[in-house]
Amino acid sequence: MALSGLQIFKLLPKTNCKECGFPTCMAFAMQLAAGKAELDQCPYVTDEAKAQLGEASAPPVRKVVIGAGDGAVIIGEETVLYRHEKRFEHMPGLAVMITDEMDAAAIDTALTHLKEQEFNYVGQTLKPRLAAVKAADAGRLAELAARVDSEAGAAVIIMSEDAGALKAAAEPLKDRKPLLYCATEANFDDVAAVAKELEVPFTIKADSLEKLADLGQKAIDGDFKDVIIDPSSVSLGDVLKDQTLIRRAAVKKTFRPFGFPTIGFPCNMTDDKLLEAVYASTFIAKYAGIVVLSDLDPARVLPLLYLSQNIYTDPQRPMQMDQGIYPINDPDENAPIIVTTNFSLTYFTVSSEIEASKAPAWLCIMDCEGQSVLTAWAAGKFVADAIAPFLKKSGVDEKAPHRQVIIPGYVAQISGELEAELGEGWSVQVGVREAADIPKYLRQWSPN
Ligand code: SF4
Repeated sequence: MALSGLQIFKLLPKTNCKECGFPTCMAFAMQLAAGKAELDQCPYVTDEAKAQLGEASAPPVRKVVIGAGDGAVIIGEETVLYRHEKRFEHMPGLAVMITDEMDAAAIDTALTHLKEQEFNYVGQTLKPRLAAVKAADAGRLAELAARVDSEAGAAVIIMSEDAGALKAAAEPLKDRKPLLYCATEANFDDVAAVAKELEVPFTIKADSLEKLADLGQKAIDGDFKDVIIDPSSVSLGDVLKDQTLIRRAAVKKTFRPFGFPTIGFPCNMTDDKLLEAVYASTFIAKYAGIVVLSDLDPARVLPLLYLSQNIYTDPQRPMQMDQGIYPINDPDENAPIIVTTNFSLTYFTVSSEIEASKAPAWLCIMDCEGQSVLTAWAAGKFVADAIAPFLKKSGVDEKAPHRQVIIPGYVAQISGELEAELGEGWSVQVGVREAADIPKYLRQWSPN
């Protein structure tokens, strides 16, 4: 049962020392009750109080880790229904389905994609991270699970309703924390016993939310914390309804039987690959912790990963680069000085175009709180009397004594003012508006 803010407050030290980041213990207690703070933010909670508060202060959607080491996939730990209320915490893990019905070449392709597929976008590495394996024969199931671990180094979801087959496949990998799939009304006790013995997470599955809630309560009664929920959605409408009801019940009502991450199988919902991608994107947008695809065709995986990244970044903190001078293509004293803002997308777009041009450059990235060029200019952050002191203090003129600064074409209007602010010896040139035009511009550029 969740505790109220007042009940939590009674267990806190009540010294109002502010070390938790809140002005009073009461304020911290209220945030804890709302799932918007973590208990370990207060360094003075006694062990006794921790034991009492631990459960009450757990996030509405529990954190579950599948896999181990570099291949570990963390999901859940979510506290809000809407991203703008705080942020969504852990991107869903994309998984590929591998079954004994696939031919050897298709299995090899899935494993190779899982191992090698990796995309770098605005400073983050994005990749599919799990495989779900399914086979009628227990030996074949164990073999496929072992191959996912050894050949792809990825987290494994082992699929069978036979608890014995699950145990046989999971036991050799138990230190790699595979996910057992799945416990139903019929086999809950057997699968839960395997999960308890091997200390691995398991999935509960039912064909109605009522039955799923019963299984969730059984898991709680059995003191299981590493549980995944499968509401067995079979249509797009069901996906939206089930995922929303589960998250709403967990977050708004602190309904613990639904306080676990979910898994979705768009691969089972259609044979149309594009439609499967649409279903997968709905699972991603609507709270799923794991999304299982029929294959890892990069044409569909890449946009799904970008979608996840966009949804799971912190909306209150734009992705940003550190302020500084970034040398690109081994610049010397004759290389151009380019200045722009520290919005990650701006940096990676501009830097990749400079790299592609093969022209050397000093890219000066100015801290504008992660805003893009026009936004920062409109907010008075990327303006002449801010850019000039930044450039002078940066020391870029020691690296490129020509002191000719190129500004983005979108802020051409500040060129005169910036030149005046920079003072004698400096000059300002207006660059291109679109990053795609940078290579052509740089190839023609030379210091005056
Ligand atoms: Fe109270 Fe702990 Fe926060 Fe200090 S750190 S104000 S004792 S809750």
